[in-house]
Amino acid sequence: MKRTELTRNTTAYLFDEIEDYYTCVFLIEKKSTIFVIDTFCGSISMEPILRHLARVGKGKQVIVVNTHFHWDHVWGNVAFQDRTIIGHRFCYEDLATSWQSQIDNRGRYRLGRVERVLPSLTFDQSLRFPAEKIEIFHSPGHTRDSISIFDHEEGALYVGDNVETPIIYVEAPDVDTYIQTLEHYLARSARKIFGSHTLEITPADIENSIDYLKKLKTGTGVVFRSEYEKTIHSQNLSMLK
Ligand SMILES: [Zn+2]
Repeated sequence: MKRTELTRNTTAYLFDEIEDYYTCVFLIEKKSTIFVIDTFCGSISMEPILRHLARVGKGKQVIVVNTHFHWDHVWGNVAFQDRTIIGHRFCYEDLATSWQSQIDNRGRYRLGRVERVLPSLTFDQSLRFPAEKIEIFHSPGHTRDSISIFDHEEGALYVGDNVETPIIYVEAPDVDTYIQTLEHYLARSARKIFGSHTLEITPADIENSIDYLKKLKTGTGVVFRSEYEKTIHSQNLSMLK
């Protein structure tokens, strides 16, 4: 695990226990609240974060956000059972129904204790923390429950798995909605954009993803630079069938 300071008030923890990509957990530290964005793969992976919170979190509330229901973003929820865990209402539903199948398929990636801990606070469109200048909003794309975080103070946008390079993972069939979400990201004119598996994202990366989704719809014109991209693309195609 590597720890990187991103902005005055934001830290990224980069985990590399899964092959092919790294996974980020973000800490956004505000005046009275610390937001923990995603929880990676279990209790052990959250230990450095709990230690950090014990040092700097005195008198602050800790709020956990699950960007979507996938195992590599939620299995560390077990370390925050007594905290508020925010997720989209679909995250609650989809995590509940897929809990066991995710354990069955990806259980080898568990790091320490993993228990079924679902979001304790769900929403439909958006949630705001005005004093902290944090907005959390529904941004369906990668999955139907995907949510994003906008820090109005820093102009920083956290997109979860909706954008990554070299190629995005399409795990929901509604490509038009995915494109709308990405266009909405561009319209926000964020100063910085962070993804869960690609730390720093540029507007060009978002434009390329939109372009890719348009080609995915027609099934033509996609150019691959690696076998990895080819593999993910064929998985994406089968999602649309
Ligand atoms: Zn995902």
